[in-house]
Amino acid sequence: MIPPHLSPEELKALVRTVPDFPHPGIQFRDITTLIGHPQGLAASVGHLALLAAAAGAQKIAGMEARGFIFGAAVAVQLGIGFVPVRKPGKLPIVTIGIDYALEYGTDRLEMDPEAVAPGEKVVIVDDLIATGGTALAAAELLRAAGAEVTDALFVIDLPDLGGAERLRKAGITVGTLMEFEGD
Ligand code: AMP
Repeated sequence: MIPPHLSPEELKALVRTVPDFPHPGIQFRDITTLIGHPQGLAASVGHLALLAAAAGAQKIAGMEARGFIFGAAVAVQLGIGFVPVRKPGKLPIVTIGIDYALEYGTDRLEMDPEAVAPGEKVVIVDDLIATGGTALAAAELLRAAGAEVTDALFVIDLPDLGGAERLRKAGITVGTLMEFEGD
């Protein structure tokens, strides 16, 4: 495994905050600057991979699109498979899917029902947890496919939005590298 050379504090300093995107009042935590740094992506993945290994991951699942960047790299580091949890209509097969509520409207995630073996331990990886709605939907979908989902990892936590707490109440252990106050 590649050891992480930047601390979570150093990684936090690489995240760009863009005010009022995509809506007024939202502080968008942009990972473009983090992953563009020569060691930013490798170190983030290194920290996440240590957590995923400790959780006993047999497979990593990542949500489209930013979860693919971190999740796939973690899977490579651990030498295990990756499950893409996709936006609707992208997979060329019969999928299973789940609709979930957003602040405004609904969204949907889909996956290959044969992507996990029965009882396989799948760890969820995404860039950021806000309300936790996306991660909870992904966990439910992966469980419907037969996976055991006990852990979810995120680069960024927005604790004021309560997502990590929601996941913990649903029996999922949450690991994060950094927190930002507010939404
Ligand atoms: P949620 O389902 O509310 O936990 O939202 C999770 C997804 O929305 C994450 O995968 C993020 O990519 C995105 N997201 C939500 N809030 C923010 C924010 N303030 N900055 C950047 N991305 C965000």
